[in-house]
Amino acid sequence: MSAGAKGGDGPPRKGEIFTTGVFVRPSRILLVSAAAAEIARVERLLGLDNNSVDAVATPGAALASLKEQKPDLVLLGAALGNRIGFDFCRTLKQTPSLHYIPVVIILDGSAVGGQIDALDCGANDVVREPLDELVFRARIRALLKYKRAVAALRNARNTLEQDVHERIAQLQKEIAEHQRTEAALQESQERYALAAQGSHDGLWDWDLRTDKVFCSERWKSMLGYPEDAPLDSPEAWFAHISPLDLGPFKEALSAHLEGRTLAFSFECRMQHRDRTLRWVHVRGMAVRDKDGAALRIAGSQSDITSRKLMELQLRHDAFHDGLTGLPNRALFMDRLRQAIARMKRDPARAYAVLLLDIDKFKIVNDSLGHGVGDHLLIQFARRVREFGRATDTVARLGGDEFAVLLEDVEDLASATAAAERIHEALKTPLVVHGRQMYATTSIGVATGKPRYERADDVLRDADTALYQAKAAGRGKQRTFASGMHARVLSQMDLEHDLRDAIKTCEQFVLCYQPILALDSGRLVGFEALIRWHHPKRGLVSPLQFIPIAEETDVIGPLTQWVLRTATAQLKAWEAAAGRDLPVYVSVNLSGKTLGDAGLAGTVGEIVRASGVRPAQVSLEITEGSLMKDPEASLATLSCLKAMDIGLMVDDFGTGYSSLSYLHRLPLNILKIDRSFVADIPAVARNMEIVRTIALLADRLGLSLVAEGIETAAQRDWLRSIRCGLGQGHLFSRAVVAAAAYAFMADNLSLQ
Ligand code: GH3
Ligand code: MG
Repeated sequence: MSAGAKGGDGPPRKGEIFTTGVFVRPSRILLVSAAAAEIARVERLLGLDNNSVDAVATPGAALASLKEQKPDLVLLGAALGNRIGFDFCRTLKQTPSLHYIPVVIILDGSAVGGQIDALDCGANDVVREPLDELVFRARIRALLKYKRAVAALRNARNTLEQDVHERIAQLQKEIAEHQRTEAALQESQERYALAAQGSHDGLWDWDLRTDKVFCSERWKSMLGYPEDAPLDSPEAWFAHISPLDLGPFKEALSAHLEGRTLAFSFECRMQHRDRTLRWVHVRGMAVRDKDGAALRIAGSQSDITSRKLMELQLRHDAFHDGLTGLPNRALFMDRLRQAIARMKRDPARAYAVLLLDIDKFKIVNDSLGHGVGDHLLIQFARRVREFGRATDTVARLGGDEFAVLLEDVEDLASATAAAERIHEALKTPLVVHGRQMYATTSIGVATGKPRYERADDVLRDADTALYQAKAAGRGKQRTFASGMHARVLSQMDLEHDLRDAIKTCEQFVLCYQPILALDSGRLVGFEALIRWHHPKRGLVSPLQFIPIAEETDVIGPLTQWVLRTATAQLKAWEAAAGRDLPVYVSVNLSGKTLGDAGLAGTVGEIVRASGVRPAQVSLEITEGSLMKDPEASLATLSCLKAMDIGLMVDDFGTGYSSLSYLHRLPLNILKIDRSFVADIPAVARNMEIVRTIALLADRLGLSLVAEGIETAAQRDWLRSIRCGLGQGHLFSRAVVAAAAYAFMADNLSLQ
């Protein structure tokens, strides 16, 4: 738009005039004339219309001026001469930067014609002298108006052209951009297709607006379906998901569609066309409108069956014992924790734990090898598993230790009945490597109490009860009772202290109780009896610590120490007496050591090392332990007998001796148990038993010792039935070595 046209929108600026409805700025007119009068007249006439006139004398001066600034109109004066005027006009119209400026020629009035020539050389208008002033002004005004209109048009065209150019440039830019985007899209689609092909993942896309589902070829082949298998609805999709997982799957999907999760990710089982189940990992992401509502959801699906199976296997391995396949300690403790929690919620839902430890299992390993041991563990596990209910958890806690968690047990009686059933089940031999084997187990029972907070506590109590069951002899069961724990702890402490004490044996002392011939009252020997001076507990009874020593491997070294000390003592007494003494020392031998293959050798060595004669040494073995395995006893005893070591059956009458074995065992002496002697002369029946034992000893050619003689009447009666030897408080208590020597010196009249 031209400035003039724009001017119509507001009040006139300085110098503008109002014409044909618009304000226009004053026009500048270049007059080419050298005639002062002409110049003056034109200035006057055109000044009337508020135009300014610049006059130059020649065409050359005009061209110079036109370089500086462009007028609105060029007026070629008559004074110039027609010919020069026409030439100059032609020049102007042929000059590209000037041709648009309107040119008016004033023809000399004296020359005829010239109008056509003037128009031919490009003049826009021609006037002739003498000028009709009004017409001249009107024509000049019209030309100027025309010029302005043309300028405005040209401006408008220029602006339009510029707009068009700008728009075209913009469109070209947009097209280029679009093409780039298209190319990038295509590239990314190709890349996506390649990735999808290469990744082995199936793709799915669910348009929620149309409720159509698209599943890729790979998706279908993953489940054994051909590419063209019809599968385009969510129902068809969900029908493939295992009912076990469908609920949680839909829940996770809804959570994402409703915007509660950032992405959808779910592992589930899907049914393959061959009816097997495959584990898949489904991932997806919703496309949403500006309000966040999901429009569609698309994603991938990968087959994770092998990873999942491996995971399941690893999880199974983590919670099961590799040898027996039973749950392991971790799983057992977990179930126990659940049982504790259940009972806390509902005290009626009681539970019980049976803790089992196979008896003497080490012997199987040691004698038949680890392979057989392992197989025995497997068979044992199977047997225990068979006895229980499906809801019970049978676990292997480690080594030869098993546990059973009984759930919903009615009372303690049903728990102990279950333990009893296990003992019963084990009465049928297990078949291990084709060989029949008996295994017994000790069982500790702990019944769930609401006060239990931790699984460890329940197991600890069952363990305490098990310890007691073991201590009571094998194949037993014990139920945990309050106070038991403290007792077991005390016993364990004692066991620990005993192990310590055996290292130096400084806390042990031997006392000696004389054994005399009842008829002459003459000393024949001493029974060596051990005492333990515990640094904190004081004197601990052998009745208390010998069973512990027998339970552990302490009994062997302890027995050796007693034998070594007793024989050394006898040797020392002989040295003190200055001669051989006609007495023996008798040492108690635990039944537990009787099975040791090296026992006879060890005893022989100790006796030899002491320097006493083997006949001065006697070993006391209880009737019970002798008869436990008479065949094994026979072998060891025969070796000892061959060395001339005396052998005595201790506590005779309390066990169940087989007469045939009694006859075959190479024994020297029977010792009548103190319980029979104590009843003399009050209980006639016991006296009869003693009389019979005396007869038996006589028949078998064995000497007879009675222990626990406290009265002269007992001694006299025993003498009357030809019991040759005796010991007891009537003669002397067990005394320390010095007192024993004093007794001996007195009895044997030593110097
Ligand atoms: P107790 O009557 O006191 O239970 O005597 P035990 O011989 O059974 O001794 P204990 O229960 O203390 O020891 C169990 C043994 O089981 C110790 C270990 O050598 C053995 N053992 C542990 N794990 C395995 C295993 O996986 N296989 C085999 N063959 N033996 C095992
Ligand atoms: Mg065991």
